[in-house]
Amino acid sequence: MRPRTYQIITYGCQMNASDSELMAGILEARGLSPVREEAEADVLLVNTCIVRDSAEQRAQGRIARLKGLKTGRPDRIIGVCGCMAQRDAEAIFDQYPHVDLVLGTRAIPSLSAMLDHVLNGESRVACVEEIPGSVGRMDKSDGSDEPDGSDNLQAPTFSIRNPQSAIRNPQSSALSPQHSALPSHSSALSTQHSALCSQSSLLSSHSSALSTQHSALSSHSSALSTQHSLAVPVRRSALRALVPIMMGCNNWCSYCIVPTVRGREESRRAGAILDEIRALVQCGCREVTLVGQNVNSYRDGETDFAGLLERVNAVDGLLRVRYITSHPRDANDRHLDAVAALPKVCDHFHLPAQSGSTPVLARMNRGYTREDYLGLVRRVRQRLPEATITTDLIVGFPGETGADYEQTLDLVREVRFDSAFTFLYNVREGTRAAEWEDDVPLTVKKERLARLIEIQERISLEQNQALAGKTLEILVEGPARRAEQKGGRGQCVGRTTGDKCVVYDGSPSDTGRLVRTRIVEGATHTLFGERIQQDPRPNENISSLPCLPERVESRGDSTRVKNSGPG
Ligand code: SF4
Repeated sequence: MRPRTYQIITYGCQMNASDSELMAGILEARGLSPVREEAEADVLLVNTCIVRDSAEQRAQGRIARLKGLKTGRPDRIIGVCGCMAQRDAEAIFDQYPHVDLVLGTRAIPSLSAMLDHVLNGESRVACVEEIPGSVGRMDKSDGSDEPDGSDNLQAPTFSIRNPQSAIRNPQSSALSPQHSALPSHSSALSTQHSALCSQSSLLSSHSSALSTQHSALSSHSSALSTQHSLAVPVRRSALRALVPIMMGCNNWCSYCIVPTVRGREESRRAGAILDEIRALVQCGCREVTLVGQNVNSYRDGETDFAGLLERVNAVDGLLRVRYITSHPRDANDRHLDAVAALPKVCDHFHLPAQSGSTPVLARMNRGYTREDYLGLVRRVRQRLPEATITTDLIVGFPGETGADYEQTLDLVREVRFDSAFTFLYNVREGTRAAEWEDDVPLTVKKERLARLIEIQERISLEQNQALAGKTLEILVEGPARRAEQKGGRGQCVGRTTGDKCVVYDGSPSDTGRLVRTRIVEGATHTLFGERIQQDPRPNENISSLPCLPERVESRGDSTRVKNSGPG
């Protein structure tokens, strides 16, 4: 039976959310429709995260539970994608015999071809890129394990693993960057097509390895071209869109598995990014979030991240620009000046500190000290005193003493973050820190985390209470959920430029508009306000983007980035 319906279950950060949007586009280009219930899906994909143990365990549990659905309907196709797929392709087949396909982090454009192989009777097919540097990391003379980046542009090679059959070349699209996926439904996006095609050519021109692979796959290339001209990422929201600007990371933080499973940094062409954003705006999008593991190291020729912000800010019709994630070491003055000067770029800085202790930061291989971080915060506040500053923090890193931990609490008190994502350290196999003793007992980690959360929540509440009486502009997202309302007050919800949630007495017709609100009360995670004035601009094209009824287990909404991932 040809599959007609699909569901994608997504765990993890903004990059996974963005990948799921692209996979949804590929499936819909094949004529599949999204469904809310797993039992109704002919194709079920689990997009996994292994950055933290808790996310990995949730994904493993979900994959295991899908066995029952496969038993009831053997023709149902079950796939595993994302970081776990990249790391554990063959182990997944061993552990979960009901899984039909495995797709690595850079193999998403092969999804359609992989489905064809399963539909043609093959079982257990995998397409996983061999990521340069993921094995045998370089040890630098300074003792860090940070690669020098000299092979940043090495062409990927794909390993097609199929332990059950002879299939080796399931129309791998190594030559097609993931975001060559293009719209079938909008002529407005046609310019994006040509821009992305040229990106694909560029990638293929500098790699003899790819050329060889290209020859081997030439019989499939026209099919691939057709396939990739028929897919566009399916966004969950008509108003907001995640737009990937780069893949991978070169930083090799000692606790982080991302460089191993997502590879080295590769920036997308600025022209392709801008074409995609212009097309989104024509379809009603009001806010874009530029996503990458380390957006500050974006570069396309002369265009650095600040230059990209300038160009995105100039897109007509776009109201707001966000980005995530910034690395504190790379957030330079050009970046800060751009945020201060560009009216559409939101004054929200998510700067993952991870620790307040310089010795711990050194062991984490973060590339900055406590003093550097505090200096960065000062430079932000000199330019934008009202800016929102949020962070990620890890407690219980190997060797973290009580004094180190107190330094983290002091940092939190000194910076007064608006909010923080806080985590217990847990070992990630394949990282440098996994070689060290995990010497902080779990009970101590939990105590440290609880105290950190208590302090941060109090500061978040005080920060929000201090906004009472202020006038803040929000981009209205639509009706508020019952849980967001307070005492029956507040029908609509929107976000400030600082990414604070404001519930106010509005009308659903405000959706997609900028509305000025006066804040009447601040709670820990929400502001309550009243409407002052509405943006007079017409509310057009709001619902013309396709929306994805996708479950995002660990974050809630794939287009509202609630966590920067590993940071
Ligand atoms: S924590 Fe962030 S910057 Fe560090 S290696 Fe992981 S993704 Fe890269």
